[in-house]
Amino acid sequence: MMRRARLLIDTAAMRHNLGVAREAAGTRSIFAAVKADGYGHGLLTAARAFSAAGTDGFAVATPGEGLALREAGLTERILVLQGALTADEFAVAAERSLDLVFHELAQLDLLDQHAASLPPGRIRAWIKADTGMHREGLMPESVPAARERLLVCPAIGGSIGLMTHFARADEPGTAPTEQQVETFRAIAAEGPGETSLCNSAGLLGATAVGGDWVRPGVMLYGGNPFIFGEAAQFDLRAAMTLKTVLVAVRQVPRGESIGYGGRFVAPETMPVGLASVGYGDGYPRHAPDGTPILVNGQRSQIVGRVSMDLVTVDLRGIQAQVGDEVECWGSGLPIDQVAQSAGTISYELMCQVSGQLRAEGT
Ligand code: PLP
Repeated sequence: MMRRARLLIDTAAMRHNLGVAREAAGTRSIFAAVKADGYGHGLLTAARAFSAAGTDGFAVATPGEGLALREAGLTERILVLQGALTADEFAVAAERSLDLVFHELAQLDLLDQHAASLPPGRIRAWIKADTGMHREGLMPESVPAARERLLVCPAIGGSIGLMTHFARADEPGTAPTEQQVETFRAIAAEGPGETSLCNSAGLLGATAVGGDWVRPGVMLYGGNPFIFGEAAQFDLRAAMTLKTVLVAVRQVPRGESIGYGGRFVAPETMPVGLASVGYGDGYPRHAPDGTPILVNGQRSQIVGRVSMDLVTVDLRGIQAQVGDEVECWGSGLPIDQVAQSAGTISYELMCQVSGQLRAEGT
C-alpha cells in the first residue's frame, strides 16, 4: 500500500525548463546537472527527460553516477564534477568515456600511477580552477603545469578543458562573479580547450559570461537559483510536487497548544487539520509556524512543530474535510517559498525527500 504522502514528478516541466536553459545558453552546450539522484527527482527520470529535450551532456558528482547513466544507455557527454579518486574510478571513466574533472593535484599523481593500465585517449580531462570560491580547484598558478601533465598522459584524449564554479552568482550584485570571470579568462587565455563557468544563476544572471558549456542544475527542476525573486519570472515550472491528504480535522480550544513542545498556542478556538506528511518524508522539521501549505488549493499555513509523519495545518477560513488534498510544495506552491520559510534552499528540500517516496513517485 502506498503512503498517503506522494511525490509527483513532472517530466514535461523538466523538458520545458531545459528549453529555458537552452534559450539562455545560446550557442553554448549544456551539461544538465543530475547529481544527488537528479536533485531528488530520480537520476534516470531526470536524465531521460533532459536527454529527450536535447541536452548535450550531464553533470554528475561521482564516476558511479556516470556509470549508472551509461548502463541505462545514455550516450551524451558526462562530466564528473568530483573526478576520479581510485584506480577503479579511472578505469570506469576510461571504459565509459567520462569527462573527469581534476580539481586536486593528488588526482594527477594517481592518474600517472595508473595511466599505463588504462586504454589510450578515452578520458576527457577538465581542470577545475579555483577563481575565488576556495572550496576546491587548482589555484590559477598551478593550472599551466597541470595542463602540461594531462597533455602528455596517454590515457587522456583531446584538448584539456577548463572550468570554474561561482560562489555568489545567486546574490544581487554581480561584482564577485565578475571578478571570478576575469580571473578565469586570464587562465583560459593561456591554453586552448573547452571552457565552462555557469551554474543556473550564472546562466540566468545579467552578466555575459561566455564559455563553451554551461552546467545548470536547480533551474531545470523549477527552483529559483537566486536568493531573490521567483522561478516563475524565468518561466520555470516546478518538476516536483509533494502532496498528501488530511487525515483528521478538529477544533482546538483557545489557549491550548498544538503538538510537541507546545510551540503554537491557539489564539482562538480554531479548526486544525492533520496532514499525513512529516520529516520522515522529507518535509523540513524546522519549518516554523506560518510556513505556507495548500489545502484544496487554498493557501494555508502550518501551526505547531512538524512530526515524523504528521503536520498540523491552520484551517481557519478554509473549507476542508478528512481525505482532502494537501500540497506541501510544487505546481501550486513554489518550493522556494517553503524553503525560505524553513531557513533552507529548494535544493535541500528536493534532495531530502525520502527514498521511499521517490521510488513511488511517478
Ligand atoms: N556546477 C557545479 C560544479 C556544481 O557544484 C553545481 C551544483 O552544485 C552546479 C554546476 C549546478 O548548480 P545549480 O544547481 O545552482 O545550477
